[in-house]
Amino acid sequence: MTGAPRPLPRLLTVTSASYLTPHMVRVTLTGEWLKDFADGQEGAHCKLIFPKPGESLESFRATYAEGRPKQKVHDIRTYTVRAFRRDTLEMDIDFVAHGAEGPATRWAQSAKPGDFLLFMGPGPVKLETFYADWYLVAADMSALPVAAAALEAMPREAKGVAVFEVQSAEDRQVIDAPEGVDIHWLLLPDPHVSSTAQLDFMKTLDFPQGAIQTCIAGESGAIRAIRDYLHNEKQLDKKAAYISGYWKVGLVEDQHQEAKRAGNAG
Ligand SMILES: Cc1cc2nc3c(=O)[nH]c(=O)nc-3n(C[C@H](O)[C@H](O)[C@H](O)COP(=O)(O)OP(=O)(O)OC[C@H]3O[C@@H](n4cnc5c(N)ncnc54)[C@H](O)[C@@H]3O)c2cc1C
Repeated sequence: MTGAPRPLPRLLTVTSASYLTPHMVRVTLTGEWLKDFADGQEGAHCKLIFPKPGESLESFRATYAEGRPKQKVHDIRTYTVRAFRRDTLEMDIDFVAHGAEGPATRWAQSAKPGDFLLFMGPGPVKLETFYADWYLVAADMSALPVAAAALEAMPREAKGVAVFEVQSAEDRQVIDAPEGVDIHWLLLPDPHVSSTAQLDFMKTLDFPQGAIQTCIAGESGAIRAIRDYLHNEKQLDKKAAYISGYWKVGLVEDQHQEAKRAGNAG
């Protein structure tokens, strides 16, 4: 079967990069092609291709001049469109600063104006239509961008609960959520251990009658337990529930994706 040709990865150049909070780097990127970027894609995922350290723009671009080569040449990682500003043709992507292990986090922690990467996507927005009587939103730091985008897009009269797990009190963010959504912040000083704190918190909640939608993502071990609970104990409608593992303790992204395909990760 031959589908439509995949669009070529498109170049984005850094205009600024700074720590939003102690463990989150916001990188702002621009590119001429963003003038054709559709509005309302905040929360959609994208694939980012990272140059090798010190690689020239010419050599990097040349690798993708005719599409993605069959052999892997550069590291590719999945991120979320956090914000897009048409007036300045700028896109924000928030990267967890999770240490020195990982080409994406390393790139973000040292990003400066003029640095570049390639962008593929965006994929679908995770929560596009809002019809729930009650929303349940949960995220660790890797999924704060998708969760924040969902809360910002919700009808202002929405009701629900959001629970976030961050590394320190200073990693809490101001999120423009509907007033009727109660936000709770939990602290997980060491993100390299799978946590049950969000699940334990959910078990204390009274789930109201009526339609429930969720936007839940984060570390795969935690997500798998949350998914089991919501599907099996709470009989949550699977179609209404966005629940996704974004990374897994001890695995680099390619290994995590492989484990997900094999059904061994949340
Ligand atoms: C749909 C989707 C959207 C995503 N959006 C975002 C986003 O907007 N922002 C974001 O920061 N992440 C996001 N992620 C998660 C991100 O893709 C992974 O964290 C990825 O592994 C980071 O790549 P890396 O090169 O930094 O680390 P890798 O090379 O993949 O991993 C190196 C080591 O770091 C560990 N590790 C990876 N991520 C974390 C983490 N968050 N905290 C602690 N340890 C970690 C791994 O277990 C491994 O041991 C998203 C994932 C998906 C599937």
